[in-house]
This record gives sequence, structure tokens and C-alpha cells, in this order.
Amino acid sequence: MIKEYGNLEVWFVTGAQLLYGGDAVVQVDGHSTKMVDGMNASGKLPVKIVYKGTANSSEEVLAIMKAAENESKCVGVITWMHTFSPAKMWIHGLQTLRKPLLHLHTQYNKEIPWDTMDMDFMNLNQSAHGDREYAHILSRMRKNHKTVVGYWKDAKTLERIAVWQRVAAAWADAQDMRIIRFGDQMNNVAVTDGDKVEAEMRLGYHVDYVPFSEIMPYFDKVLDTDVEELVQIYFKEYDHDEALEDVHSEGYAKIWNSAKAELTLRAVLKAYKAKGFTTNFDDLGDVDVEKTGKGFDQIPGLASQRLMAEGYGFGAEGDWKSAALYRTVWFMTRGLDKGCSFLEDYTLNFDGEQSAILQAHMLEICPLIAAGKPRLEVHFLGIGIRKSETARLVFTSKTGPGVTATIVDMGGRFRLIVNDVECIEPKPLPKLPVASALWIPQPNFEVGAAAWMMAGGTHHSCFSYDLTPEYWEDYAEIADIEMLHIGRETTLEGFKRDLKINEIYYLLNKALK
Ligand code: MN
Repeated sequence: MIKEYGNLEVWFVTGAQLLYGGDAVVQVDGHSTKMVDGMNASGKLPVKIVYKGTANSSEEVLAIMKAAENESKCVGVITWMHTFSPAKMWIHGLQTLRKPLLHLHTQYNKEIPWDTMDMDFMNLNQSAHGDREYAHILSRMRKNHKTVVGYWKDAKTLERIAVWQRVAAAWADAQDMRIIRFGDQMNNVAVTDGDKVEAEMRLGYHVDYVPFSEIMPYFDKVLDTDVEELVQIYFKEYDHDEALEDVHSEGYAKIWNSAKAELTLRAVLKAYKAKGFTTNFDDLGDVDVEKTGKGFDQIPGLASQRLMAEGYGFGAEGDWKSAALYRTVWFMTRGLDKGCSFLEDYTLNFDGEQSAILQAHMLEICPLIAAGKPRLEVHFLGIGIRKSETARLVFTSKTGPGVTATIVDMGGRFRLIVNDVECIEPKPLPKLPVASALWIPQPNFEVGAAAWMMAGGTHHSCFSYDLTPEYWEDYAEIADIEMLHIGRETTLEGFKRDLKINEIYYLLNKALK
């Protein structure tokens, strides 16, 4: 049981009709119950499926979909047509359902019982027929959904359902997500900005500004004893120079202030019921910290690193889209163990086939992607309004494949850009004590980086080792936004064509719906 999904449900509705008599529906019901019990018992599905019975008429479909909309525990609906289910009866129900929808094309029996099959059996077990009729109305209504085809016991089928369940759970999580911004966009930056009203309408989350003056009461309330306790946790959890434990050292004072910033930010996030936040290194309050001791004396980088690991969305320099998307990545990957982080493209390393991009940030990389135990260090940071010795966690990422994603506002629509990447072993960076990853964008550096830029992608992105492009396909389908995937098969010629075709498609899309 995954804690974050513990209370959630996905509903399972079986389509049938009364043409073949009540006995047939009883059998359909029995088969459905066994299937749902079997899928739940497989151990492969992160969210529990709840069987909601057969739907045999327009009234029944509408009642189930209305109930699904009203039940907050329900994050999505799986539909399956055991027998023939005339699809006009699904229209009103599907118009009502706004939650994620999965159409499962499967069958109770795996193989045709060649020797015994008669007309009764064929009439009862006709998913091949019923699912096509139902799929027609999904297509006719332009109803966003995921289609999964496969035997319900097969691992591959269950894995595809599991992916959709995780995305549906994260989608539900985003619908009451609040992102708070401690400071605006960094001056003049375009790519991290966007339409917050459209984001709430389309992607679900709400973005608010919280001025530093509202942080100060929480800062003042933090108890010194709690700060001490947290500093000891740091020393226990992270490698560090012993000298930092000297309570009279500047290093200790900086770590102590970092811990106070972390407790402050967590208290603010809790008080505002926020699931994510952004910072801006030019906006850390106007208090004369050196004299008054009131306010952040350094960029709260260590706090951001640790809060990200806890599941809070984070975006640097006011980047609220990345903060929200990181939270979604974190939520989708609960119970998977390789890690995720907000990252930023920094410096290129030209090296033939191994050409790669250094992913780092000033400080704010999530320790969930660390290859080993992170190291707590204090170094001078000369950027932003507080030029100061600054605490941070230093590490390099695990190696291996992953997927990174970003959402940009194209004006009139959001575009999700997804890139498969390969994290490789970096060389040591003795003069750059920050967390980092080094990756080769797929299919290779030249095509991957070019396609990302042609799509207007950010220098910020949300990375995960555990996600695959299928997760993002499901996300884009549910959100009804554009998705561009840069993968192992991408060519620049094809990608350029996709960009042009999408321009036309999204101009026409609104007229079609
Ligand atoms: Mn940045």
C-alpha cells in the first residue's frame, strides 16, 4: 500500500444490456467481480479498483458517472464492455464525466473454448464487438481517454493500467494544488512565465503570491530548540566536515540559519495548504539581516532541496509551472525508488557521441536523485541579493536512463515537452560544490537539444528515473494539452513537421470540441 494513494479509488464499470436477459447480466457481473478482485490481488496496481456494477441503460450510465464525479476518493473510471452495449446509452454519462477515463479492451476468458463454444457463449462474451461500439462513441465525442488492450491477467496490461492510475492520482492531487510564490519571475525571463488563469482552468492548480512580510511571523515563531534538533538531523543524515559541528564557527551558524529557513518555509507551506513554492534569489525580504537577524541571510537552497524530497513542488526564480510539474512528478512516482528532481540546463560538454549537458542549479537539486550519501557543505555564493556563505547538499546523480519534462505557455495553449535522457558518469567538479547530473539528451545531443529548443522548451525541467513517456502521454491526454516527445526515434525533419501540424491542429481543436 502506497501511503499517498491509500485512500484513492479507481472505479470499474462494465457495459452490458438487457437484450440477452437478466441471467446474462448476472454472469457478466460475476465475471467482472472476479476480474476486479484478480487485478487488485495482482500486486501490480498502486490504486485500488472498485467494481461499480454493470451499466445497462443510459440512466444507469449517467447515475454511475455522476457518482464518480461526486466521490472525491475516485480519481478515474475504467470502462469495459463485456457484451454488446449500444453506445448511445453512454453519451450523457460520458458528457458528465470529467475525471480520467480508461477504456480496457479485454475479455474474461483468455482463449476461445473451441470444443464447447455455442451461440450463448458467443453472445455473452463479445468484447470484440461491444468494445468497438463503445470506442466509436468515445471517438465520435472526441472524449479524451486511454485505451489499454490486453488480457486482464497479463503483466503488460496491468502495467499500462498502473501507469494511468499513477497519472490519474497525480491529476487529482493537482486539482486542489496551491503553489505559493515567494517573489515574482526573475526579471525579464519569458519561458518560466505564463497564464496562471489558463493554468488553473486547464491543469487544475492555483498560483498565489506570498510577500516576504507574510513569511516573517512564521520565521519569528520558529523555536531555537527545533532548529537545534534539525541541525542534528542534518549532521546525522549527511556526510560533512567535522569542523561544521563547531557551534562557534561561521559554517555552523550558516547551517543553523538554513535549518531555521527550512522550518519557516515548511510552516508557511502548511499554513497556506500549499503543495509547492517558488523562490527568487533577488527577493529574500528587505530586512537588514546582518544587523537585525530577522530574515533569510542566504538563499534557502538547503531548505528547497529537502522540501523537494518531501514532495513539495519547487521552481527557482518564480517558475511556478515547474514547481507544479515537479509536485506532479513526485506524486506519480510514489513507491518507485529511483528519484526525481527539478533541474536546470547549465553547461555543455562537447565530446562526440558522449556530448552531454550538465544539469545543476545554484543549489536547488533534490537529493532523491543522489548516487550516494549527499554531503552537507557551506560555501560562498555570490549571486542574488544575499552574497553569503551558503549551506547546501552536494552530490552527483545516479547514472542510467530517465525522462525529463517541462510545460511551456505557447500563448493560447500549453505545450508539454518530454525528452528521454541518459545520465552518465560526470568527472569531479572540485571548484563547483553543488549537486548535479550529467545527461545525454536522446536520440543524441545534437538532435535532442535542437528539438527541445525548436519546441521552445525551458532551461528548467522536471526529471525522473522512474517515469516513461507513457506517463506523460497519459498526462497530456487527461489535461488535453499538446505533447511533444523527443525520444530515441526522433529526427529533426519529423519533429519540425510535428510542430507545424500541431499548430494547425490546436487552432482547429477548439472548433471541433
Ligand atoms: Mn534557474
